[in-house]
Amino acid sequence: MSQYPQSPLMGQMMHQPLLISSIIEHADRQFGKNEIVSRRVEGDIHRYTYRDCHRRARQMANALRALGVKMGERVATLAWNGYRHMELYYAVSGSGAVLHTINPRLFAEQIAYIANHAEDQYLFFDMNFLPLAEAFAAHCTTIKAYVMMCDRDRMPKESKIANLLCYEDLIDNNTDDYVWPLFDENSASSLCYTSGTTGHPKGALYSHRSTVLHSLASCSPDGLNVSARDVVLPVVPMFHVNAWGLPYSVPMTGAKMVFPGASLDGKSVYELFEQEQVTFSAGVPTVWLGLLTYVGQNNLRFSSLKRTVVGGSACPPSMMKTFMHKYGVETVHAWGMTEMSPLGTVCTLQSNHLTMSEEARQAILEKQGHTIYGVQIRIVDDNFKELPWDGKTFGNLQAKGPWVISSYFKGEGGDVLQDGWFPTGDVATIDAEGYMQITDRSKDVIKSGGEWIGTIDLENIAMSHPAVLQAACIGIAHPKWDERPLLVVVKKQGADLTKEELIEFFQGKIAKWWTPDDVTFVDELPHGATGKILKNKIREQFKEYKLPTA
Ligand code: AMP
Repeated sequence: MSQYPQSPLMGQMMHQPLLISSIIEHADRQFGKNEIVSRRVEGDIHRYTYRDCHRRARQMANALRALGVKMGERVATLAWNGYRHMELYYAVSGSGAVLHTINPRLFAEQIAYIANHAEDQYLFFDMNFLPLAEAFAAHCTTIKAYVMMCDRDRMPKESKIANLLCYEDLIDNNTDDYVWPLFDENSASSLCYTSGTTGHPKGALYSHRSTVLHSLASCSPDGLNVSARDVVLPVVPMFHVNAWGLPYSVPMTGAKMVFPGASLDGKSVYELFEQEQVTFSAGVPTVWLGLLTYVGQNNLRFSSLKRTVVGGSACPPSMMKTFMHKYGVETVHAWGMTEMSPLGTVCTLQSNHLTMSEEARQAILEKQGHTIYGVQIRIVDDNFKELPWDGKTFGNLQAKGPWVISSYFKGEGGDVLQDGWFPTGDVATIDAEGYMQITDRSKDVIKSGGEWIGTIDLENIAMSHPAVLQAACIGIAHPKWDERPLLVVVKKQGADLTKEELIEFFQGKIAKWWTPDDVTFVDELPHGATGKILKNKIREQFKEYKLPTA
């Protein structure tokens, strides 16, 4: 299958395909007694080991065989982070079928669209999603049966879904006598649809090889730095780019795994951190905002947490500082996307940075970071000409690597690569040391008088004001300048702040012409299915807005 020429002298190493099943086999053999702890949607805490997980994944693989699931066929999940979901990660992909993780925060019609597009054969769902499953089931044309992920005694007496099976029945009715099949490592393993803020979502189809390589690279010390000494709690959901690969990379290292289930509020996450002595976590800034608010209001401390990876949206520097200075927790800024499995860059320091002033180190850590080995990035202008790595020039960010997509599922959107590079849709700078900083999504950038204003910088400054909880900056049409920035702000509870004070706060922190023309206060900002602020919704909401300068 390789398109590259062969040397007359080939290496003499074993050829073992890089398969996802090898990860859970390794976790069982090497770290069999290490725990996986889950807060279940049933409400209780469930504990078992990697060995148990592997055994039940094999039972489920036998169940899938009995249900007639064939290699390459898609099996969907609609589930929070939990042990049964993890079993499916291995049972489905390990047996050669394709795990399609669906985001349950989508509307019923969107779920039906995605399930039909993926041609899902079975759909497994957490029991609290029964009403949602009932709402879309009639519109799904390919699903043969639905499996509710619970014990028999939790199954409903009756349901609108005729072909409803029970997860624990499938486990109980099958033995663990199952040998993971060997097949080509380039076979499809899992499928994630992009959030698709415009148009229909598109599918990123990962392979066993891409997943295993991504997991290996992401564990490295200047990647996510996960080790057997860690207790890892992925707050990022297993339906958001496979929880950033943690259900694969954590068992690879043998670290204890803690799954938070459906309870992602500050209180629940904090309690689980403390009960299970979590050392490492990962999630989007919105979740950390909830956690920090809860911990701050209740005067609490973290007794075990050492690091959190923040990605999915820009991490406000004020959040990094609060984590570090108030709680002694390191935040690691990372960037990636569904199309990149997701990890592209992680921000860690090099030895020559360690003697720098704290301020200089902080300035580096606020960037999205350097690529982990395997990924390459570059910035280009609109004619695809590469731009310099000077930390100032910004351009369209492109990426390539063995875990970056080459095309969308079913060829949707045609040929997506540009000269062999994947266009990320982000605008960024790269400095002389290779540290990348996202200025904006290209569709969010504000075009003012022929120049660009990056909204992330403005939002970060606003968020560093003590009275500001959240901020989003959008471009508003302007007769003279095309667009000018409007800052939409949620104040902290009980805080006092006027728009004049906030605009004044920008003075000296930014080029004068970048200063927002106006500020408007709102009670909350709209968030999408993966916890990101929905700029397109805010733009829609303020499309008639008149700036005072217009
Ligand atoms: P998704 O595929 O839903 O994970 O979204 C990927 C997009 O999220 C990227 O293309 C970026 O626009 C944005 N993103 C991810 N991580 C970061 C980050 N650390 N800073 C800024 N934007 C980010």
